[in-house]
Amino acid sequence: MPDSLVPTAKFVDPDITAKGETRASVAWAGLKTLWFNTGTLCNISCANCYIESSPTNDRLVYLTRSDVEPYLDELTAPTEIGITGGEPFLAPEIIGMFKAVLTRRHSLLVLTNAMRPMMRPRVHAGLVDLAGQFPGKMTLRVSLDSHDAALHDAERGAGAFEEACKGLRWLADAGIGLAIAGRKALHEDEAAARAGYRELIAALGLGLDADDPKQLVLFPEMIARDDPPEITTACWGILNKAPESIMCASQRMVVRRKGAPGPRVLACTLLVDDPAFDLGNTLAEATAAPVRLNHPWCASFCVLGGASCSA
Ligand code: SF4
Ligand code: SF4
Repeated sequence: MPDSLVPTAKFVDPDITAKGETRASVAWAGLKTLWFNTGTLCNISCANCYIESSPTNDRLVYLTRSDVEPYLDELTAPTEIGITGGEPFLAPEIIGMFKAVLTRRHSLLVLTNAMRPMMRPRVHAGLVDLAGQFPGKMTLRVSLDSHDAALHDAERGAGAFEEACKGLRWLADAGIGLAIAGRKALHEDEAAARAGYRELIAALGLGLDADDPKQLVLFPEMIARDDPPEITTACWGILNKAPESIMCASQRMVVRRKGAPGPRVLACTLLVDDPAFDLGNTLAEATAAPVRLNHPWCASFCVLGGASCSA
């Protein structure tokens, strides 16, 4: 390529890196999970919230049941439907959205902080009703940043741990499908983290298996690298990583921006503000072309992790 056509900065040209190499892209491999982001409002503001949710952030507004239904109607087979936010239980039509999913025979995974919005009587009654009608089809995955109350509260505010534990106990007592999304503290390894959560699970009587990676999902700390390298087509071989293993090969997320005429489909759950990853109005439109990995987070969070892909 002539030097004059090579972009002068990183993450600028969708196809070519600043070194003049071909940027990596991820082709659509078929739907595994369709996410709905019910809005960025949250009852708390966590120090590490990648989407910067808070009690005042409404740049993604609440989805409604009628926003969600056309996407469910595009699906031709039972699919995992993920619901995230913000705090999904703040959305006024949340139980209606769950019903729309479950009556179409999809399975439902809801990410929640299990705090006050989930415990409101109307929501509470709706969850019990749906758990009874659709046994085994709905799982609420509760975020618990640590098994240690002080570490959790340092991220989420004083009293957050106690309130989440109350919510967890209520879910277990009501027989609602439950999982925990935990984090490994920077100083502990996986075994130590699982041991800490195991103790907490037993103390709360939740009946979860801390060694089952679905019942206790452990996420690493999400720390964006300073100045990450760009991802080229050569990286897959160097890292021995398959493009199909990346989230945007098999997942999409529906959002509604404040003031927008309707919902939009994004490439993944991570990149909500970059227009390059806003792929269309429908699922069909949003899966028609490969996703070009032209964002520092593609490198930091998805492809490199802790690795390096320089040859
Ligand atoms: S509870 Fe979740 S969505 Fe709300 S601020 Fe914390 S990390 Fe963000
Ligand atoms: S951050 Fe980039 S690589 Fe990761 S899922 Fe989203 S679009 Fe794909």
